[in-house]
Amino acid sequence: WSRDTIAVVTGGNKGIGLEIVRQLAKQGVTTILTARDESRGQQALSALKADGLDVIFHQLDVTDSKSIRELATWVKARFGGLDILVNNAGIGWSSLPDKVLAAKEVLDTNYYGVKNLTHTLLPLFRPSAAGSRVVNVSSMAGQLAVVGNNKWKQQLNDEDNLNEEVIESIIQAYLKDRAEGLNTVLMMPSQELLEAYGNYTVSKVACNAHTRVVARDLVNRKEGEKIFVNCMCPGVTNTAMSQNKGHSVGGGADTAVWLVLLPASECVTGKFFLKRTDRGFV
Ligand code: NDP
Repeated sequence: WSRDTIAVVTGGNKGIGLEIVRQLAKQGVTTILTARDESRGQQALSALKADGLDVIFHQLDVTDSKSIRELATWVKARFGGLDILVNNAGIGWSSLPDKVLAAKEVLDTNYYGVKNLTHTLLPLFRPSAAGSRVVNVSSMAGQLAVVGNNKWKQQLNDEDNLNEEVIESIIQAYLKDRAEGLNTVLMMPSQELLEAYGNYTVSKVACNAHTRVVARDLVNRKEGEKIFVNCMCPGVTNTAMSQNKGHSVGGGADTAVWLVLLPASECVTGKFFLKRTDRGFV
């Protein structure tokens, strides 16, 4: 990896994203720190620069299609393309009082944000012997075991027929649950758990499934044009999202950075990693 390697990291102004940016920059990768808020992004950039790291900033709100398009246009014009995308931006909850709007906000960020940015940037991935990388920062919360409804679980497990339509029909069923006060998709043990974790859980189930779909659809690219697509769980990490519980951001970023920097000969695609280990989507 060198300065010629271009990486885009979302939600890079704090938490795990900021640490991923720091570690990639330390490895000499040209790293684009993106943040939805210009001033929070610039502040993070200044802190990295003060540590002697050369990082570039660009605004990106993953829920805003115009912002996504502008980033893509800028990446193409300035660098001709990219090699690495880390979809890290995410929210744990929404503060919107309306239950359906709150669910939509979490899903728009954690699932549709990943989907839309990935599809917009994929055509810009450059051929390389090392193979390009997409790493989705997801969660064990999105493991298939959390889906209580067997019909949906089976559909998510049906590798050959899984696609965005299937994923999004589960999202629609979940949103219907929210609108009607039901619990038919996740079938969580209590309404309390559903209220606290349902939105985030469904968003990460969808993110994990999307990782598999994109990886499968790209798997036959020829040598020199490979794109490896994986997702990972950082473990409970001391950030705003975990309300400052858990291990250091260094530990949280570790598996994502490892997946990005792994030699092509050791890369797999469409897998879910925890602590540098393929844990399956079980
Ligand atoms: P933080 O809350 O510390 O950081 C989240 C980052 O995402 C912030 O930079 C935030 O920006 C950004 N973000 C949120 N919404 C958007 C948006 N619409 N567009 C662009 N950026 C956005 O959380 P973490 O660092 O802990 O989380 C990073 C990832 O790790 C998430 O995907 C999360 O689900 C995952 N994860 C975290 C765990 C943990 O224990 N911390 C455990 C498992 C998974 P802003 O500052 O503007 O809000």
